[in-house]
Amino acid sequence: MNKKITVLAGDGIGHEVTSWGVKILEQIADNFGHQFSFQNALLGHSAIEATGNPLPDETLEKCLEADAILLGAVGHPKYDNDPSLKVRPEQGLLKLRKSLGLYTNIRPIEIFDELADASSLKKELISGVDILFFRELTGGIYFGERNRTEDIATDSMTYSKMEVERIARRAFEAAMTRRKVVHSIDKANVLDSSRLWRATVNKIAKEYPAVEVIHMYIDNAAMQLIRYPKQFDVVLTGNMFGDILTDEASQIAGSLGMLASASIGDKVGLYEPIHGSAPDIAGQNIANPMATILSTALMLDIAFGLKEESRTVVAAVVAVLKKGYRTQDIKDEQTDIDKILQTDQIGQLILDEIKAMKSVFS
Ligand code: NAD
Repeated sequence: MNKKITVLAGDGIGHEVTSWGVKILEQIADNFGHQFSFQNALLGHSAIEATGNPLPDETLEKCLEADAILLGAVGHPKYDNDPSLKVRPEQGLLKLRKSLGLYTNIRPIEIFDELADASSLKKELISGVDILFFRELTGGIYFGERNRTEDIATDSMTYSKMEVERIARRAFEAAMTRRKVVHSIDKANVLDSSRLWRATVNKIAKEYPAVEVIHMYIDNAAMQLIRYPKQFDVVLTGNMFGDILTDEASQIAGSLGMLASASIGDKVGLYEPIHGSAPDIAGQNIANPMATILSTALMLDIAFGLKEESRTVVAAVVAVLKKGYRTQDIKDEQTDIDKILQTDQIGQLILDEIKAMKSVFS
């Protein structure tokens, strides 16, 4: 299979982790006889520095002509410390999501047994957790009208029926292949946009009578997620609620550095770790590349339909964890000090596992 992949390393640790995503994809291509070609493009702070624009036209063009996009993360302390700056890295990412129509962000939260001790929650609460988040990505408060005067600032949260229907369908379709439960998260006791969200989800639910729908307010959901995470199967949320809940859920899994995501719409899809550019550890070769590597597994499965290849990547990550190797973000008291590795070391071990599997599949 021939596929063209555009790589947007972005900022901070984005470079360190996407370089491993690319190496893993190259090895998979070698193992299974595919041709993957890669082209790089600028996004975020690095794009502002080079062109003054967080999403240069050239980057958008390279994304539109690709079969899939691998993204690291965007963001730089310069902007975090100065909210008055008008041109900002995240504008590039938001515009990219909007331009590509990436309205569905899929975030699997699965617990690797090996990392149960790295979670903030007790082992018995989290073992067996398997949640699939569907976060709406191109609507809601992040894209609503804004206004700012000296004393008053306004951000508006808008959802249309169409926006809710299309992501709800995707969530129900996924639930049909799983435990057939959808938790839809809103704040319908207070917000009109949530009341429309709830009514629309109920309408779509009628098309999937086998799936149970449970509506939950966001404040309750935030609490239930750490009280008893196993109750969740598919979770359907708007943009901001999903952003917050999935970061919370990352702690169930042990670290932001373990969680992958896929953003899909009707054109090319974008695959990225859920973490940010982590400026506090950027350039130190200590970032966990596994969220990005697991994002390549999602790409292989969802974008290219290469299930065996996708399983190979996940199996390689699991094999390295089973041998006790950790990056600093997922170590615990039991971790052997010699097995706490740098980005390049753990990336290489995962790559070696995939190489070693070549004979099994070829
Ligand atoms: P962050 O995810 O970058 O970091 C939060 C914490 O998790 C930090 O302590 C960091 O060191 C740690 N961490 C994150 N990824 C890690 C990894 N792979 N391995 C080990 N540790 C990891 O979030 P933040 O600090 O709130 O934001 C930093 C910057 O990233 C900001 O500029 C923010 O706007 C941006 N950001 C971008 C995205 C994106 O590009 N999708 C998402 C979130 C935040």
